[in-house]
Amino acid sequence: MPNAVFESMLYRDHEQLVFCSDKASGLKAIIAIHDTTLGPALGGTRMWNYESEDEAIRDVLRLSRGMTHKAAVAGLNLGGGKAVIIGDPKRKNEALFRAFGRFVNSLNGRYITAEDVNTSVQDMEWVRMETDYVTGISRALGGSGDPSPMTAWGVYVGIKASTQWVYGTRDLSKFTVAIQGLGHTGHWLASYLHAEGVKMIVTDIDQERVRRAVEEFGATAVAPDEITRVDAEIFSPAALGGVIDDEFLENSRFKIIAGAANNQLKDEDTHGPLLREKGILYAPDFVINSGGLMNVANELEGYNQERAKQQIETIDGILTRIYQTTKEQDIPTYEAANRLARERIREVAHLKRFWLQNEGGARIGH
Ligand code: NAD
Repeated sequence: MPNAVFESMLYRDHEQLVFCSDKASGLKAIIAIHDTTLGPALGGTRMWNYESEDEAIRDVLRLSRGMTHKAAVAGLNLGGGKAVIIGDPKRKNEALFRAFGRFVNSLNGRYITAEDVNTSVQDMEWVRMETDYVTGISRALGGSGDPSPMTAWGVYVGIKASTQWVYGTRDLSKFTVAIQGLGHTGHWLASYLHAEGVKMIVTDIDQERVRRAVEEFGATAVAPDEITRVDAEIFSPAALGGVIDDEFLENSRFKIIAGAANNQLKDEDTHGPLLREKGILYAPDFVINSGGLMNVANELEGYNQERAKQQIETIDGILTRIYQTTKEQDIPTYEAANRLARERIREVAHLKRFWLQNEGGARIGH
């Protein structure tokens, strides 16, 4: 294995990288465990036709680290992990996911998987045939099913926390929300907003989804390249990553950005501070979209939707704390969220060391 892999792992403090290969099923997968200070590493399995092994390694290292921060800020006793299966998602089959399940099982619970881009509830049920260390299985089998309604609920709650911070009200009926992407999360979000009488401007590259939102929610439709320039107080990205870039900052007039999409900032270190300079409140993506993670994490204790929903509503308080830190320390919101995550991990690590020492001391004294 080239040295560069260890260097990449050391750079961001990853604990373990597991390469999984099974000739019979054609499985080629990589599991990354970033940090297990808070608990077992939980994170989905992405299937992607990576151009190179390097690209897959980079992706799994980046994504697993993101999960550590997401779980830490969400207040979960979970660490960060992620897996990637290298290959064409059109070639998914039972043997592939069962082989993958075997590898997950071999880690004895250090890593717990779930669905992600290009993997589904069905795929996780195949994984479950080989291991208990899997979440995101169907409601019929006692799992939590599709997380999107709950992710969208968290976004809805997060939008309210954001309007409270900027405008001093959680009543959204006063505002217009621009939604980019009407897929799983975008459509659910639109339904919650509609129930509160919110005006919406929407877009999607899929015209059928746009038509449905116009019909069901009375939303105003615009073309995909117009959504970032419309007149609305709130922008809710629910499609792609990297949407907040130089052009966006130059042309948009939103006051709040609060949506489900992952990796919204094209470049964290450039666009995070610029948002703050321009007086736009940015709800850090990995905080406002953590409802999906909270939902699957709930499955570990026996899924209870009401409990999951209550937990997701804590996103309000978490975001408010982040906004407060941003104000006090004069830093961008994404940085405040990262600090909050690191602080919690440090505190729990300290607590663990403290009790280990005390238990050790008690044993020696005996
Ligand atoms: P999805 O694939 O169901 O929906 C995405 C929608 O965006 C689709 O309707 C697609 O046609 C549309 N789209 C794609 N490109 C577009 C463009 N250029 N302009 C306008 N619309 C475009 O995905 P989803 O599950 O709703 O997830 C949306 C985002 O939220 C993703 O970034 C995902 O990683 C993130 N996320 C989702 C969950 C969840 O529970 N589903 C949890 C956390 C984060």
